[in-house]
Amino acid sequence: MGSLDELEKYAKENNVPIIQKEGLNFLIKYIKENNIINILEIGTAIGYSAINMALINENIKVTTIERNEEMYNLSKINIRKFNLENRITIILSDALETEIKDTYDLIFIDAAKAQYIKFFERYKKNLALSGTIITDNLNFHGLAAHPEEIHSKNLRALVTKINNYKDFLKNNKEFTTTFYEIGDGIAVSKKVP
Ligand code: SAH
Ligand code: MG
Repeated sequence: MGSLDELEKYAKENNVPIIQKEGLNFLIKYIKENNIINILEIGTAIGYSAINMALINENIKVTTIERNEEMYNLSKINIRKFNLENRITIILSDALETEIKDTYDLIFIDAAKAQYIKFFERYKKNLALSGTIITDNLNFHGLAAHPEEIHSKNLRALVTKINNYKDFLKNNKEFTTTFYEIGDGIAVSKKVP
């Protein structure tokens, strides 16, 4: 049996950007309170968030997409350690090319930040009627609020993209979004019925 502590330690030592504790607790609470069963995750990494979500209760099923083969292999091993291979399906693929047909109660976007609008637009069709899209890392480690203080051009471009995504959510007529200053900044977007 694997342990979550082990995964956290591995992530820390190898700079894998797993969800922060505070954000994770928020996500878990949201899943419990809203009786979420089917989850689609964009960005698996070592499987930490997928495992945590699947451990909430036995009915939960997670499909998670990862494009990096090394991460995919690691997540596969970790998911097996927790005996969750029957409830977590990992897809090795670029989420911008993956064809998903099923519908989900929750879509958790946690992959390349520059592509957030594209992920949202691509997967909103896979959302159940009263479904939710949750996005992680909207504060980008505090940088998003102060782009003028960033000296790296690439980093500044990324922060602009994150802020564009926030505007996209704020102006979106199909979804109502609430932003939370939790963990690294989380957005909860609910489909307007
Ligand atoms: N959700 C994980 C952390 C994911 S880190 C957790 O909290 O435990 C982000 C991951 O997204 C990285 O492993 C990266 O390889 C993957 N990723 C980035 N862009 C992607 C894309 N377009 N398609 C699939 N995976 C992607
Ligand atoms: Mg994240």
